[in-house]
Order: sequence, then C-alpha cells, then structure tokens
Amino acid sequence: MSAMDVAAWLDGLGMRAAERQGSTALDSAPDAPELDDPQTISPELLNELRADLEATAAWCIASVPAAMRPLRLPKSRLADLSRCERMTVAKADAPSFDDDISPARFGGIALDRFVVHQLVAGRVLDPVTELRGALIAEGEWAALDYLDGLSDGEAQVALWPLVGAVTDAWSGIEAEWVPRTQSAAMLALADGAVICSGLLDVEFGGQVAGRPSALVEVKSGKPAQAHADEVYLYALLVSLRDGVAPAEVARWYPGGGPVAVPVSIGMVESAARRLSDSIEQWGSLRAGRPAEERPGWWCRFCPAADECPSARVDLPVDPDELADELAGGFGAAESESEDDDA
Ligand code: SF4
Repeated sequence: MSAMDVAAWLDGLGMRAAERQGSTALDSAPDAPELDDPQTISPELLNELRADLEATAAWCIASVPAAMRPLRLPKSRLADLSRCERMTVAKADAPSFDDDISPARFGGIALDRFVVHQLVAGRVLDPVTELRGALIAEGEWAALDYLDGLSDGEAQVALWPLVGAVTDAWSGIEAEWVPRTQSAAMLALADGAVICSGLLDVEFGGQVAGRPSALVEVKSGKPAQAHADEVYLYALLVSLRDGVAPAEVARWYPGGGPVAVPVSIGMVESAARRLSDSIEQWGSLRAGRPAEERPGWWCRFCPAADECPSARVDLPVDPDELADELAGGFGAAESESEDDDA
C-alpha cells in the first residue's frame, strides 16, 4: 500500500479533528483567551450564500421561457459554459452527442467503477467481468459496446493498470468512515426552476458516521484547475445540503494520493460566486441571448463544429485532459440524467 493512500489521509483527518476538539475544550476553559477559527463556516454564512443564489436565480428565471425550464446546471454544463457558450447550447439541444466513447473516456468510466467495487466489495479480481456487470447494471450501453469491441487481451491491458492503482490507494479504509458512492448533492432554487446538481464520487464520514465529513472526486486525467473548481463547487453544494460544511475535499488521480484541502470560507464563497455567474450566463442564453463562440481543443467534440465559422478542430487534444471531461467521473451518468431537457 502506498504511503499516500486514502486510508492514511482519513486517519490524518480524524486525528486533526480530534486535536481541534481537544484545543476547543481547552480554549473554552474559563481563563482561556477567545480564539477565532478562520475555517468555521457558520449556518449564518450558508444562509447568506443561499439567499444570494436565490436572488440571482429568481432574477434570471423571470426572462426564461417556460419551455426552457427548469434551468439545469450539472457540473458538465458549468465546465462547458466556461469554454464556449455556443457549444453549451448545441450540447443541450443534442444531448446524445456525448455518447461517443473514446479510450480516455472508457478509462475514466472503468476507474470510477473499480473504486466503487473496492469500497463496496473489496479488491477487483476479474476486471473485465466485473466492469461488464457494472455497465449492464447501470445501463451504460455505449461503454459496454466499447468494452465488447475490445479483444480480451486489449481489455486486460487497458484495465489491469487501473485496478492496480485503485488497489494501492483505496485499500484498508475503516468501515467506520461509512463510504458512500454516487450520492447526490442538489441545490434547487427559485422554487425548483433552477437546479444545480452534482453526483459525488465518494463521501466519507459526516453525521451518519460520527466522524469528520470528507469528499473525494476520482480523476483519470492530469491535475487541472477545473478539477479543483469542481470539488469546491461540491463543497458548497454539500454544505448547503447538510447545513454544515465538509471538513476537507480531495481529488484522487491514479498513481498518487488524495490531493486534499480543508474547506474554507473563501472556498465556498468563491464557489458560490462562480455558480451565481453561471446561473446568469445560462439563464440569459436560454432567454435568447446570442451565444458567443470561443474556439479551443473542445471544438473537436462540439456538435456545432460543422456549421461554426470559429471552429478550430485542428487544435491538438491531450488525451489526459479529455479523460475526465468526457467520463465526468460519475458525471457521465449525471450528464445523461440531468442535461437532457434544458
Ligand atoms: S466549433 Fe468551437 S467555437 Fe464553434 S461552437 Fe463549437 S466549440 Fe464553440
């Protein structure tokens, strides 16, 4: 097992929480000085953030035609909005476009399922059979077709390195952390007319476990700022869902340990600002504002590329950069279930 595995990170998280509790007890002694905890995210702050988002949603939805409601903002749409508005609109109007499976996307999908297997049933012993079973159970037919199109040798070569990385990093986690996979974090605003949602790859701890709460997003590409923004958004959504912020959020990439950060006031505030901006942006597009074109490597995967005068399908694509974009962690299922009507 590697020194930087998930179990070791959780152990450290538990110890840090115990130390904080101990110091809080000492600080509350009658003669102890009062100390501010800069990481404390109060219910009042969460209420303020929710109220600001409610105000933005109510203002935006007023100009959105009924046929375009509810205004849905899963993480895949937030990422698309930050790249090209016209592509975002085109994808929303042709939701089956993302069904194509590339090797990078297939790897990301497999990685997610192996993490679930490791947490729920232990080490993956037969990756091809176990992945096929998971894909059938979830109705992931495009990925299943891709798997069935590989020879047994090709499938083994593609999947065993992923199994090895998952086994190294995700073994030995105490059941007391109560790991949960694919749990939803949804924020409904303006009486449900605006819905911001995410599917969390893995949640640990929290009230159900009596331990600090932590989130992990499984990533199969290279570390990127967009991945950090994604976990910060999840920190916000979970904070608003539970009324209390997670202690830490992390990203995990094969071959390394969790890249974890404590959830801070600045993190949830900036995530709320970005979400508010995206609500405004998507709301105005659905209300009829012409979409801007912003070419990039993503043009190759844009349903509007054939007609778009700005298209740059010649730009090189890093397969690592694509892996999570197209697999979306568990966001592939998120995208299919939530992107199809707005
Ligand atoms: S082809 Fe490129 S610039 Fe044009 S809409 Fe698609 S992503 Fe945007």
